[in-house]
Amino acid sequence: MALLITDDCINCDVCEPECPNEAISMGLEYYQIDPNKCTECVGHFDEPQCQQVCPVACIPFDPAWRETPEQLLAKYTILTAAKV
Ligand code: SF4
Ligand code: SF4
Repeated sequence: MALLITDDCINCDVCEPECPNEAISMGLEYYQIDPNKCTECVGHFDEPQCQQVCPVACIPFDPAWRETPEQLLAKYTILTAAKV
């Protein structure tokens, strides 16, 4: 399951550099997560790093993007291979 940034975001810029997959970027009004790049931090960290640092807790799991741990790990493998 990818994560989602809600409109409670205050554009504090804290989460964007913490994402190991470069999935977070500034959107039209507030930050957004590319679900094709978000692995819930699987492969990099035990916990979603953006959730850990967000001061207003506006990064829930996105119910529209349900993925198993195996699918998330496969996404991590593809993303990592693309960087090499
Ligand atoms: Fe990036 Fe991890 Fe947050 Fe997904 S959960 S957006 S991979 S920091
Ligand atoms: Fe928005 Fe939270 Fe990211 Fe700050 S850490 S930019 S409030 S989503």
